[in-house]
Amino acid sequence: MPQQNRVLNELILTSSPPFVIVTITAHTIIGFPSIPHLWTVTGREPDGAGESIIESVSILKGGESMQDYQEARKAYYRLRCEKTAQSLCENRFDAVVVADREEAVSRVLDLVGPDDVVGVPGTVTIRELDLMNRLEQRGNTVVQHWVSGVSSEELRSLRVQQMNSDVLLTGTNAITLDGQLVNIDGTGNRVASMVFGPRKVVIVTGANKIADNLQEALHRVKRIAAPINALRLGTKSPCAKTGYCVDCKSPSTICAVTVVMDRRPSQTEVTVVLIPEDLGY
Ligand code: SF4
Repeated sequence: MPQQNRVLNELILTSSPPFVIVTITAHTIIGFPSIPHLWTVTGREPDGAGESIIESVSILKGGESMQDYQEARKAYYRLRCEKTAQSLCENRFDAVVVADREEAVSRVLDLVGPDDVVGVPGTVTIRELDLMNRLEQRGNTVVQHWVSGVSSEELRSLRVQQMNSDVLLTGTNAITLDGQLVNIDGTGNRVASMVFGPRKVVIVTGANKIADNLQEALHRVKRIAAPINALRLGTKSPCAKTGYCVDCKSPSTICAVTVVMDRRPSQTEVTVVLIPEDLGY
């Protein structure tokens, strides 16, 4: 039985005679209009005495399902995605909020032409969505440099090819509620091609990347994205050993270039697809 019906039935059963039920009200938390956290029953004595609350049941205490927790998180993420999308549009980017990963994949496939060459720089988000395989299966050429058994010159050539592709498909390290895209690179090919090169840039991001402001976004990159990426890459930067940033000057730093895109660059079409889920890091 759905949770809300169960709560209502419990209230009606426990509040029945000797009371006459007058109203049953769902109370919500500001910002979560579709999620009741408290049901109350107002009733009156059969003799017609004054009305009063005779029962209340909170559904935000022990007993709610895992689905309720996930729905609350999703509602929170969706609100933040919608505010960020609105700000991005004010900053002349295109932005769309999708329901979930599946819709994100189909949106990206719509945004990329069937004959486009697609450059994919270092991004976990795009790989988590399996978008490279989906694009290749329908005939797109995908250029990436996360390949083994090639020389450093060949890796450099692949990065340059990404910068000359029709579409750049990438994630972002962070994004602010004010609609700024924040990225930090060690090599710089990813941030360079997000700004200029491909005529079209498609950025896919989970809501976990949304920060309240620029300071928090920069902090997020150094606190989460960079140390995890350093571990993934096996670099010799200090954060790969400590798990936190010491603002190093190591030759192995993956934080050499910081790019904040405040507004859409004039010669690049940029679309941001926001997913109200955790994705990438
Ligand atoms: S320790 Fe160095 S590489 Fe690691 S996050 Fe800090 S600045 Fe970046």
